[in-house]
Amino acid sequence: MGRRFESFRARQTRFMNAKISEISKIGWKFDNTYVHLPDPMLSQLSPVPVKSPKIAVLNETLANQLGLDFSSVSNENLAYVFSGNVLPKGSKSIAQAYAGHQFGHFTILGDGRAILIGEHINKNKKRFDIQFKGSGVTPYSRNGDGRAALGPMLREYIISEAMFYLNIPTTRSLAVVTTGENVIRETSLIGAILTRVASSHLRVGTFQYAATLGDLEILKTLVDYAVDRHYPNLRDEKNKALSLLEAVVQKQTELVINWMRVGFIHGVMNTDNMTISGETIDYGPCAFMDTYDPETVFSSIDHQGRYAYINQPIITKWNLVKFAETLIPLIHDNEKKSIEIAQETINKFDSLYQEGWTNMMRSKIGLFGNDKKDQNLIENLLSWMKKNKTDYTNTFYLLMKEKTKEDKIFENSEFINWYKKWKIRLKKNKQTLESSFNLMKKNNPVVIPRNYKVEEALDFANNNLDLKLVDNLFQVLKKPYTDRSEIKDYQKPPIPNGRTYKTYCGT
Ligand code: AMP
Ligand code: MG
Repeated sequence: MGRRFESFRARQTRFMNAKISEISKIGWKFDNTYVHLPDPMLSQLSPVPVKSPKIAVLNETLANQLGLDFSSVSNENLAYVFSGNVLPKGSKSIAQAYAGHQFGHFTILGDGRAILIGEHINKNKKRFDIQFKGSGVTPYSRNGDGRAALGPMLREYIISEAMFYLNIPTTRSLAVVTTGENVIRETSLIGAILTRVASSHLRVGTFQYAATLGDLEILKTLVDYAVDRHYPNLRDEKNKALSLLEAVVQKQTELVINWMRVGFIHGVMNTDNMTISGETIDYGPCAFMDTYDPETVFSSIDHQGRYAYINQPIITKWNLVKFAETLIPLIHDNEKKSIEIAQETINKFDSLYQEGWTNMMRSKIGLFGNDKKDQNLIENLLSWMKKNKTDYTNTFYLLMKEKTKEDKIFENSEFINWYKKWKIRLKKNKQTLESSFNLMKKNNPVVIPRNYKVEEALDFANNNLDLKLVDNLFQVLKKPYTDRSEIKDYQKPPIPNGRTYKTYCGT
């Protein structure tokens, strides 16, 4: 019995060693700095193996950008890698501890279904977190099963990559594998694991967690770590915590302005879903707005509309306040003084946002320079769009293509009036009309991941285990600023069906 058991073990080891040897050809170069943070910040553990991993999608373009090569590895072994059934050499896998305000309420969280397998360093010495989402239970799973379903993982894959191609800072998606196991939600769903790539997974919630530990050394270590990783130019600043706060305020302001530009609604802007790097993270119930309505909410769990389109800047600021609170003990020895300084920094958000937003909207309608009536011109357009329920993306598309005559909705005296004013303002630009239209082309996507198109592709994948529609959509979304005939079908707004589109998270 003993010998038979041993030989089985030996066979298993040989089998795994062969896999490890082949997957080393992928070219991972792991470093594991997060492991060296103070103990309470993480737990070391491995992904829970899955029954029968199979590749659903692989992002070869991203692999290339990371300096990885899949060509000499079989699909079977790639599925082993991207399910976490076998870890590459040099990987030290961990789950990160963090906390967060969820819909305004503070909770201790952590990676309940994610495992960071290490930090890959590419040829240019850039560092990328490689994380599995859906890789089994961790000490932070609470009552969850640690798993994820195929639909939501493909959704994150499509939308995060779409954001990247829209030139918006974001985590990225390298692979999705199916696990050969079912996950039980309201119904039984196909289990899957997503490989997420991020410049780090440091969140506002990571700092909130560190702050609850009540150990200033841990907080200081975290500030140093975040500065080293994301803002190395601030390394020698006298007041590093304050400089970090200023940098994150700046980055997050830019990010939310970008979301507003393309009509992206994150849907669950809890503080655990806000990064220190300024990358968009955690694609749960997010969706793009079709008809322009500032109050748009898609998330089924956001009953109060806390994370509605128009509230996103307000919530960004709210989250930044929560970040600032964690840094109070490090900004100044005198708490009162420290709060004053932090408050002053946070208050800069309003003017930063207002100015940045106006400039962003200027570029959407091709305006250079600064005219005192610009704000009015922009607001009048938006209010006309709201009143007439026009499609957000297509309105700007038709303006920049000078095709408003093709749609009856623009045969409206209020719009015609606005259009005349806009043309007069364009003439005030010190640049050519061509430059104006080029500016618009850079800022107005011709195509976005329309919710109904995303759902259609996901349903098809789920029902037929066929990624054809996902792939087609993905190809379209790779060039969101290039007009071409193939995208016609993807530009159409949804046909109204009387139902409000709803998204679900955590599934
Ligand atoms: P999210 O809504 O994705 O930001 O997740 C909020 C928290 O719930 C995080 O701590 C997640 O790790 C955790 N979580 C979400 N889904 C699961 C799951 N299926 N099992 C365990 N933890 C989960
Ligand atoms: Mg999250």
